[in-house]
Amino acid sequence: MTTFSDLGLNEILLRALAREGYEIPTPVQAQSIPALLQGRDLLGVAQTGTGKTAAFALPILHRLLEDRRRPAPHTARALILAPTRELATQIADSFRAYGQFFRPSVGVIVGGVSHRPQIDMLARGLDVLVATPGRLLDHVGSGRLKLAATEALVLDEADHMLDLGFIVPIRQIVAKLPKRRQTLLFSAT
Ligand code: AMP
Repeated sequence: MTTFSDLGLNEILLRALAREGYEIPTPVQAQSIPALLQGRDLLGVAQTGTGKTAAFALPILHRLLEDRRRPAPHTARALILAPTRELATQIADSFRAYGQFFRPSVGVIVGGVSHRPQIDMLARGLDVLVATPGRLLDHVGSGRLKLAATEALVLDEADHMLDLGFIVPIRQIVAKLPKRRQTLLFSAT
């Protein structure tokens, strides 16, 4: 049986997983984590409840740990796009739980709330930014977030984002990202 340690994850993450009560990787985790640790791109078909959040969050955190440096102001080292505020918040909570022993900076940008705290957060720079596409694009358009140094992009529930009409903001966001990056796309269909 495969363990999280067999998958090659950093000790600091293994400690957090033990603390969270995760004993064995789910199939989507066992299948995707080794490839993602090598820096490969991934197209994953996985429903909610399969453990897909950890499948992408753990390799991203591992890679941040292997190359620890402060994110520059107005940048995010990893960007996760999600269709809804609720999902974005849950994903950020997962990153914080798995990162509890090294405390990466994790931020959420969603619509329907005031801009000011988001502007201040972006000014400091983030290790991990989880966002809905529309509000994120506002910040990119006004120069408060620069994507040229982003190392990894995750499109979570990509099918749902397309259903909600986010194709145009997603295209505009992707156009600002460096060509050399890791890209992950998860869809339920
Ligand atoms: P997700 O599919 O990412 O929404 O995860 C579904 C739920 O399973 C979440 O509550 C996770 O905390 C939990 N979970 C994910 N991976 C594991 C694991 N390997 N062992 C135990 N629980 C897990």
